Amino acid sequence: MKVQGTTINAQYYKKVLQDKLRPAIRKKRPGLLESGILFHHDNAPVHTARAVTDVLAGYKWELLEHPRYSPDLAPCDVLTLAKAAEIVKYINDSTIKFANGANSQSTEHSLPKVTDLDLKSRIITINSILSGGTDLSSKLCQVMTSEINNPSKALTAELESVKTEIPKLEDVKLIAAVPQLVRSEIFKTDHKQVAVTCLFQPGYPEVPLVTEIKSKTLGYKFLQGLAKVCDTEAKKYIGKPQVVHIVQFVSNFLDENPLCVCADEISLVKGKLCGAKDEVKLKQKSSQVVLKICQEEYFLNLRLTVPDDYPLRQVVPEIADHNFPEFLRINFQAQATETARQCVQPPLKKKPKDPPFVPKPSLRSVAEYVIECVQKYPLEICPLCHERALPVDPTSESATRGKYRVEKVYCGHLFHLICLTKFMKTPPFSEGKFCPTCGKQIFHEKFKVSAKVLEDRWAHKQAKQRELEEVVDFLE
Ligand SMILES: [Zn+2]
Ligand SMILES: [Zn+2]
Repeated sequence: MKVQGTTINAQYYKKVLQDKLRPAIRKKRPGLLESGILFHHDNAPVHTARAVTDVLAGYKWELLEHPRYSPDLAPCDVLTLAKAAEIVKYINDSTIKFANGANSQSTEHSLPKVTDLDLKSRIITINSILSGGTDLSSKLCQVMTSEINNPSKALTAELESVKTEIPKLEDVKLIAAVPQLVRSEIFKTDHKQVAVTCLFQPGYPEVPLVTEIKSKTLGYKFLQGLAKVCDTEAKKYIGKPQVVHIVQFVSNFLDENPLCVCADEISLVKGKLCGAKDEVKLKQKSSQVVLKICQEEYFLNLRLTVPDDYPLRQVVPEIADHNFPEFLRINFQAQATETARQCVQPPLKKKPKDPPFVPKPSLRSVAEYVIECVQKYPLEICPLCHERALPVDPTSESATRGKYRVEKVYCGHLFHLICLTKFMKTPPFSEGKFCPTCGKQIFHEKFKVSAKVLEDRWAHKQAKQRELEEVVDFLE
């Protein structure tokens, strides 16, 4: 229940109940206030705030309890037919079990016994009244009670077989099998687990069932896509039992597509690769993502292997093929490996004020690092001579040999060795040498000499020069 542009807080919700909902019930459902209201909303903090519970207690409305730990079960503003039916079923079973997400422990939760008749006349959800759908709740309850009472023979038979067949499937747990829906949970790893709800439509099994897939760990886009594929799959079994096929299909799909654990990351990475020659290949069999990244004449193929227990363990990056100078490949590879490690291992030196370390997915960080390098370095300009640092033609050997050999210094900028040598050997020395592009001090293996030595060398060279000039003067 949300009014555009308004943040819902407890005070606002209380006002809606007092000024809008109660008058609307009086007008649209006369007599209901007297006969008693069964009110349903979820456990959002706004709904359970003292100010709100006090108002509801004052009205003497009975609360249709919303199961804890079940964000996907019927928030009041999306109380669809099937979900309402699910509530009725659960209520009538008196005790319900909900798998409690990541650690898979079950939470038992008792609800008051409510009859269908009670529900039909009394259930109120805030949207059913305020959105103008006066009869929505009663219609819902009529449809669902009639379907509960009269499931078709085919459906009854299928539900019976579902109860024996689904528990036989590997990694699958049956949660509910009622004439409106079958819900099961598939648990592959801590990060690869889904709840599959097969919803029966009127006319089933002559019409395909509709599948809803939820997960606390897998990406929304992936789940939407998978649900769509399931709907197509269900069409293959029209007129026949569909549920077990669909659940098995989802379970197989998770096994055969190990990269589903990073589906969202992959689509973000694809967004960074927009060159005509760039490519992303998914190799589900070997659980690898292969990127071909290009910049002008340069290219690099990056192979990222996603481990079984991703994202707890990091991706393994490997530069498979490339035409960069070897020193850059070594550098990219080392940095990519380090970036991956940092995603899953706490820093070696922990600062006291750092928040507790939480491992995070590494595929996107690693891929984006390498993509940035490949896109940046071929165009980089030597900060000293302002020409391209790397040769425009990658097959030219000048980047690794000869006077235009290229060096990468501490700050990450590329210099021609010839430019850098001249710069490093020219005063002033005392304060150190700084990169003209970024201002960071230049550290490099080749120039690990103190300012004193450099001063001496410079003085020596100058002295030699003077001597030489004197000799030339003398000869003239
Ligand atoms: Zn240069
Ligand atoms: Zn720099």
